[in-house]
Parts: sequence; C-alpha cells; structure tokens
Amino acid sequence: MKTSFAICNFCDAICGLEIEHSGRDIRRIRGDMADPFSRGHICPKGSAHKDLLNDPDRLRHPMRRIGSEWHEISWREAVTETARQLVAAQREGGRDAAALYYGNPMGHNYQAMLALLPLIRYLGSRNTYTSNSVDAYPRMLVSRLLYGNQAILPVPDVERTEMLVIMGANPMVSHGSVMGIPDTKRRLSAIGERGGEIVVIDPRRTETAAIANEHLAIRPGTDAYLLLSVLNTLERDGLIQLRHLEPIVENLDQVLDLAAQYSPDRTEGVTGVSASAARKLARRFGETERAVWYGRMGTSAQEFGTLTTWLIDVVNIATGKLDSPGGPMFTTPAVDLAALSKVLREPGKYGRWRSRVAGLAEFNAERPVAALVDELETPGRGQIKAMLIVAGNPVLTNPGSARLEKALGDIGFLASIDYYINETNWRADIVMPPSLALESDQYPALEHSIAIRNSAHFSPAVFAREPGTRHELEILTSLISAIASERRIPNVVARAAGGAIKWAIGSGVLLDVLLRLGPQRLSLSELKRQPHGIDLGPLEPHLPQILQTPGGGIDLAPSLVMADVLRLAERFGRSGGSGALGGGMLGGGVVGVPSGGPGGVLGGGATETSPGPVSNSEILLISRRTLKGMNSWMHNLRSLSRGRESCTIQLNPLDAKERGIADGDKVVVESAEGMIEVTAEVTDAVMAGVASMTIGWGHDSPGAQLSVASGRPGSNINVVVDPGVVDRPSGTSVVNGVPVKISAVS
Ligand code: SF4
Repeated sequence: MKTSFAICNFCDAICGLEIEHSGRDIRRIRGDMADPFSRGHICPKGSAHKDLLNDPDRLRHPMRRIGSEWHEISWREAVTETARQLVAAQREGGRDAAALYYGNPMGHNYQAMLALLPLIRYLGSRNTYTSNSVDAYPRMLVSRLLYGNQAILPVPDVERTEMLVIMGANPMVSHGSVMGIPDTKRRLSAIGERGGEIVVIDPRRTETAAIANEHLAIRPGTDAYLLLSVLNTLERDGLIQLRHLEPIVENLDQVLDLAAQYSPDRTEGVTGVSASAARKLARRFGETERAVWYGRMGTSAQEFGTLTTWLIDVVNIATGKLDSPGGPMFTTPAVDLAALSKVLREPGKYGRWRSRVAGLAEFNAERPVAALVDELETPGRGQIKAMLIVAGNPVLTNPGSARLEKALGDIGFLASIDYYINETNWRADIVMPPSLALESDQYPALEHSIAIRNSAHFSPAVFAREPGTRHELEILTSLISAIASERRIPNVVARAAGGAIKWAIGSGVLLDVLLRLGPQRLSLSELKRQPHGIDLGPLEPHLPQILQTPGGGIDLAPSLVMADVLRLAERFGRSGGSGALGGGMLGGGVVGVPSGGPGGVLGGGATETSPGPVSNSEILLISRRTLKGMNSWMHNLRSLSRGRESCTIQLNPLDAKERGIADGDKVVVESAEGMIEVTAEVTDAVMAGVASMTIGWGHDSPGAQLSVASGRPGSNINVVVDPGVVDRPSGTSVVNGVPVKISAVS
C-alpha cells in the first residue's frame, strides 16, 4: 500500500488529498492534514475521485457514432476526422462556421487551458463559447472596467474580517466561487468566535445563512436596489470614507448622485428588505473597520448582474475596505495571471463586435453562451456547421436546453472531449476521452489567484493515464497539428507547432518559467519538494501598483455601467418602487450618463433583454447547488448519488398551500420557454413568491450512457430558462429570477 498526495481540482477550494492505494486500486481518500491551506478538509466530492477512476460508464477509448451505434476508433482517426470537419466547415461557411465550447473543468486544469488558448486562436472562430458566460462574466467584466484586467479579482480576506456580508452566494456548499475557501465551516465560524458577524442576503435561507448571525431575505434580481440604498444610507450618515483609496478613486460623486434616488424607504417595497434592516446593515458595515461585501452566482446570473457586481465593489471602495486587511483584497499568486495577460495584451477585451443574431457583445473574443442556440439555428454565413465541445455538457448547463439539444442534434458535425457519453454528446459524431485529474500533473494557477490566502501547490500525477485515453494537453495539441495539416501547412511544420506547445507545457518548462518570473520567485523544483503545498501568508495590499487602467486609478462610473442604469430605473418603476423617480431617470437620461438604447454604449441587439412582468400567479425561480453536486457528470458517481433525492424545487408553504401542493408532490414548472416536472420540497427556507431548484439534472436523454445518473434523472431547470433574457452588458442569461407558473401534477 502506498500513500500519495494530490490536489482535488473539482472546485476553487483545491483541497489537498491523501490517497492510500495499491497500484490503481484506491483504498481510501481523505484530506491531507499537512496541506497548510485546506488543513485536512475535503467534501464528499473529494473522496469521489475513486468512483470516477473506477466508473465502468467512463469512456476508455475514442468513439465514433454510426447511426445509434458507437464504435471504438483510433486516436489518429478521431483527431484527424475532427480537424477535417472543422476545417471543411470553415472553408464552406467561413471561419465562424466552426464553433468551440469549453466547460468549467478547463479552468481547473492548467495544462489543458494553456493548450486550449492557442487552439482557440488558431481556429479563429467568433463562435467560441465558455461556461464562464453562464455565471462569471459580470465579475470579470467589472474587474476589467474598474481595475483594468478581468483577472484582477478581489477576494474576501475571510481570515481577518470582522464582518462578512454574503449576497447571493453559498460558500458552505460551494466552498467559495471566485473565492477559494477550503475548510469553510471552520473559517466562517472563526469570524463569530473572534466577535465578528456574518450576514447573508439571499431569497433562500441557505446552508451558509444557517451559521450566519443574520439572514435577510431579498427578492431575486433586486440586489442592486438594496446596494444603492446602502450607499444612500452611508452617504447620509457620513460613513463614506475612501481612506487610503482617496488618491486613486474617481467619480464616486456620480454614483452617490444615483444612490441619492434610492433611499431604503423607496427600495423596501421592491427588495423585500425593510428600510430599517437596510439602514442598520449599512451603518454596521460602514462602522466596522474590517468588513467585506461579497457576491457570486445570485448576483451575477440575474437581470442586473453587471450593475450588482459593480455596486458590490463600489460599496467596498466607498467605505475604504478594498485592499485593506479584513476587506476584499488581491492575492499574490506565484503565477501571476493578471500580469501574464497584460504581457499578452489580453486584459479582457470587450465589445469589438457583436454576435450575428442576438447582437450580444463579445468578451475576450468569445460570445456569451446566451447567443449559442441562435447561432446554431439561424441560417446565413457564419451559421455553426461543425462544433467541438471540451469538458462541457451545455444541454444540461445552459439556458434554453430543449432548443439547444435539438439544434446540436441537427448540426453537420459534433465532436466532444469528455469522460462520458452525456446528454449533449450522445448525438455527437466523435467523443474523445481525456485522462483524469489524478493522472495529470496539477498546478492550480487560477485557484491560487482567487484564494483567501496565498499558497502554492504542485502535485504530480498519482497514476499513469490509461492507454486508451489521452491527456487533454495531448488531444488539443494534436488537434492544432491536424488542423494545420488540413489547412495544407506542410506536415513537418504542422507537427512541430503542436509538438512544441505540448513539450513546453507537458515538460513543466513553461510552468517553471512562469513561477520564476512570478512575484513569489519560486521554481517548479522547489514546489516538487513540498508535496503538501507551501503557505505564502495572508493577502497583502497591492494598490495602486496592481491596477492596469489607462490612468492608473479606479473610475467608479465607467460609461458601460452607467449606460445600464436607465434599465435599472425603468425596472424599478415597473416593479412598484415607491415614490416618483428623479426627473432625469426616466426622462431624458441621467445627467452625464450616456444613453443605453440603440446606438448608445450598450448598442442595439435583437435580444429581448428583460424578463416580462411577473403576474400574481407567477413565482420567481432561482437556482441552487448541493454539496454533492458541481459538474453534471458527478451525478453518475455512486458515492455522490446515495441518500435523499437531490433534484427538487423548494417552495414556501404559503405558495404550496395556495396551489394545493404537498411536500413530495410532483409539480409542473412552466415558462414561455418550456415545461418540466419536478418533486416539490415545501419549506420556509425559501421566501414566499420564490422557488429554488437544483441545477445540472435532467439525465433522461435516450442516448446518454450514465447508468447511475439515469436511474434518478431529475429535471433540467434550464428547459424553462430563456437564454435570450440577459444581463445586457455581459450577455449573461438570467437564471435567478425567472417568472414561472407552478402547479400540482393533475
Ligand atoms: S471542497 Fe472542492 S476541492 Fe475540496 S474536496 Fe470538495 S470538491 Fe474537492
């Protein structure tokens, strides 16, 4: 029996794993007590690496579908045919006729990500999509606007804060998102033990709210109004204090002028948070020296995702918390992704062009995934004819699932790099299985950049990859070479290009160079000598040096954001906000604020960007995750699929009673986009007028080969979510706050 150490790469927490095994036979996985960052903690998913390794459903060879039959093929055939089809589509329909989509596991695999970037660039298609656009674009876009680079991400200094306000996030389940916080419960509990407090603002009394000092229930999609009312109170009570940020912050007055119109008395009818609660919260936050306001999924994937994310940062800045111990701070990662992207001149470019059909702005030369189904369905030059999906199951994870499934079924050619034949790729032509995390070298470059504490951890592969699989690095670099060959670049040159990239990444040379050039001046050999990782200390102040904005400061009123303020004001009126809005808001526009209408900063576009009005019979649907869930394929892992049914819709007892629904009943959830049936869970954890449903379910596609997941398929929330209803600046689909009708199954 041997003991090996590794990193769990399933989520941002990057827990250290201690694995007892004999060859590939794993006896036990537990948390690595010597890992200074995760301190022995793992969640149920950490132990489930064993199930993934042993899962008989997992593919061990590349497969090709002929009719409804799958046949094993060689890697050469899989890669060559994929390249041939992508290039053929581009020859016939232009560059955009070949599309690429990649899912969130790519962000947790540094080698694959480094190889994917040149492939994306080489393919050169504007039809490139990422799961980041499902929930992370608002955060990345606001970082780009305020700090000059999408990768400059503020992270709560949880270990020193005295007040943590969590809005639309549930770290007790997620272990942080754009905030790596392993050993979450102990770290959050420590805030209370040292006399601090946690406040959770969420339509649902979440698992995090259960250990918080206070929970404020808020109506979905109204967070921006509460934040404006908080700013309003801070200003009235003289609690606006930029402190050390004074020399670098511009245009705070513009934001305060806007906030002046949203007093807590006016917003309470819209948000559901009473004026007195909003005032108390604002005062406590303003008066607490070490405090931080943090938001994630609920504040991003909603009608005003960009504005809400921006306002969270504004509150942190206007009270002088940013870049101060106990507030939102910036990491000092050993591999500095923000500095690297600056060198590569890729700070997060935005809006250079728009999607062909919906008119959504590009970000990072990618289209928001909200545009995907239109680009598949709509004829014309640039319509997608061939597609490669890497580590993603967009039919389950992206809005408009039913349309997307049909459109992907009708596509000329579809290839996928995935462990499984899933609900998306069961209609693909070719599926190529990658190796596992435990079979690859790991350096969590992205996760270290968003961790609540500085650390560096490299873990070598525990097992060799299975002979029939390939590392994603190998697959992607082979594709680069094969595409080059198809484009009639001489074979020797084509092979050399892919081979050079593969060598630089796979040998560790590139990582070593990045570590040596990074702010911690480490080396790969040093990290290899520390199998449990290295603690690099608490977060440190970095302003203004870290900023990459043109003037070197923070403009709190970027035109892109201010242009969207009109939409917020209009929505406020329609939502029944009390009192008349200031004359400038609904009339000729706010003074000094450019128009957000067609031709304005946000530009036009065919997409309907706002949810329709909510009638009395409708309920606002929000999404949630469970501790055992993350990526949809995890529902096929036996240890994660035991216990109570996970796919449920939570309903408040008042709403359930009104509709004659009892706990455990099957209910119909219906929107203009589609209809599903799901099991009701009646609980006062969710506020009246709101329903909360789990994500990643709906394992009932006839051709998917997920024997465990299909035994308890659940329902797919994204069937009822319209991809065309978006947060306008970022193009992020509104997943939280979808008006639906819910009734008992007759
Ligand atoms: S918290 Fe995240 S990193 Fe840690 S074991 Fe669970 S899934 Fe893995």
